[in-house]
Amino acid sequence: MMLPYCQSVLSNSPWRFFRFLCRALSTKGPMVYDAVISGGGMVGTAMACALGSDPHLRHKKILLLEAGQRKERSHLPQQFSNRVSSITPGSASFLASFGAWDDISVMRLKAFKRMQVWDACSDALITFDKDGMEDMGYVVENDVIITALTQQLSSMSDRVEVLYRSKAVGYTWPAPYHNGEGSPWVQIDLAGGQKIHTRLLIGADGQNSMVRSAAGMRSVQWSYNHVAVVATLHLSEPTDNNVAWQRFLPSGPIALLPLSDTCSSLVWSTSPENASHLLNMDEESFVDAVNSAFWSNEGYSDLISSAESILRTAVSYLMPTGTSTRQLPPSVSKVESSSRAAFPLGMAHATEYIRHRVALIGDAAHRVHPLAGQGVNMGFGDAACLAQHLSKAAFIGQDLGSTKHLLQYETERQRHNLPLMAAIDLLKRLYNTKQPPIVLLRTLGLQATNAFPPMKEQIIAFASK
Ligand SMILES: Cc1cc2nc3c(=O)[nH]c(=O)nc-3n(C[C@H](O)[C@H](O)[C@H](O)COP(=O)(O)OP(=O)(O)OC[C@H]3O[C@@H](n4cnc5c(N)ncnc54)[C@H](O)[C@@H]3O)c2cc1C
Repeated sequence: MMLPYCQSVLSNSPWRFFRFLCRALSTKGPMVYDAVISGGGMVGTAMACALGSDPHLRHKKILLLEAGQRKERSHLPQQFSNRVSSITPGSASFLASFGAWDDISVMRLKAFKRMQVWDACSDALITFDKDGMEDMGYVVENDVIITALTQQLSSMSDRVEVLYRSKAVGYTWPAPYHNGEGSPWVQIDLAGGQKIHTRLLIGADGQNSMVRSAAGMRSVQWSYNHVAVVATLHLSEPTDNNVAWQRFLPSGPIALLPLSDTCSSLVWSTSPENASHLLNMDEESFVDAVNSAFWSNEGYSDLISSAESILRTAVSYLMPTGTSTRQLPPSVSKVESSSRAAFPLGMAHATEYIRHRVALIGDAAHRVHPLAGQGVNMGFGDAACLAQHLSKAAFIGQDLGSTKHLLQYETERQRHNLPLMAAIDLLKRLYNTKQPPIVLLRTLGLQATNAFPPMKEQIIAFASK
């Protein structure tokens, strides 16, 4: 039986025969994967798709481990989910590179063409849009993203194995320079008792990453003592609804992200006390609270507004194109029943993204405040960058777990992520105060940035990656 198979494989491809021989000889030893991704959230599943679709990695053994159940829906529920993400054009291109964006577009997404961010303490505002009303970004339900990614993974089942309901409960690390004792690979212990070996472990297991802590990688982190209240809202009347709105209240930012012509998604960052109040009030009072958060003049300072108005007048003389028209946000008529939920907010950054045979991606490596809608976009950026370096390593025949190319991944991503995280944290702190000098400073800063299109273009280009 074996001989004809060997002959046919050998005549077709000596490489395939070599792999077959290796596998046959290693049947007694443990199975060794080239890469195992621990964590099948949005970022880990996208990573698996990127590796599975790369031609240079087609002979590699790749496994995705996910503690939860497989999330693929046969039909899209009519109601929007309360968990949504604003996706940048850069992330959309990454998802399109392996076919997931087409599936997302067929399911459900809403493009937005403009962003308006304004301060509750003054008339300062900044708007972002692109020439020719190009899409600034897309609001997509997290479940839709996961479903599209899972569909893509199913079509790559010959390249990527997936184990759902498989929680990693322990990791054993090899010595950086293998001395012949013990396994040279990372060993993963699963809750069911199985053991898996891999040349490279990719930690995509979220903010409380076990990969990160088991590898002893430090993380700098703090809580904002803030909670994000999310909900699905119905608008008073249908509109184009193609603007993403964010108002900085003294108690925290409130954002309205378009879902359709008649619905938007709310992300309201506030104190835990106010969050629990918002979650427990009746639906009518909740709708009133949301409308008043967008429209009320509470916290408005006439003095600061006068200073801002002088600056605005000066700008309109010097740069007639440097001021923006203020648009009014839509008013809300109803909250979708049972759509209110709350999530604690914090910031975290792993001081290292890689070690020998380990790399972190997504929230396992960094966590940010949602005010800039960057968390999962940064994660997709990590996955795209790591997949690119692994592809190069495979092309030149290098071991995927070697530190050489992993270091390039770490440098590239930290250069992008750190300044973005610092800017998000600064914004959070700058807008979390009513202190007049700081309010004045941020008001003038916001107006000056708004008046200077090249700076806005830089911000859009950086945040769209
Ligand atoms: C209110 C709110 C609004 C947000 N809005 C935006 C936005 O508009 N735009 C944006 O870019 N980002 C946004 N974010 C951030 C974004 O949601 C996160 O960055 C993103 O979900 C992180 O994805 P992840 O795959 O890295 O981690 P996770 O989603 O946490 O996934 C980790 C996965 O790993 C699995 N896992 C964990 N441990 C194990 C184990 N031991 N073994 C096996 N599997 C394991 C878990 O089951 C889970 O599926 C928002 C966040 C919040 C809270």
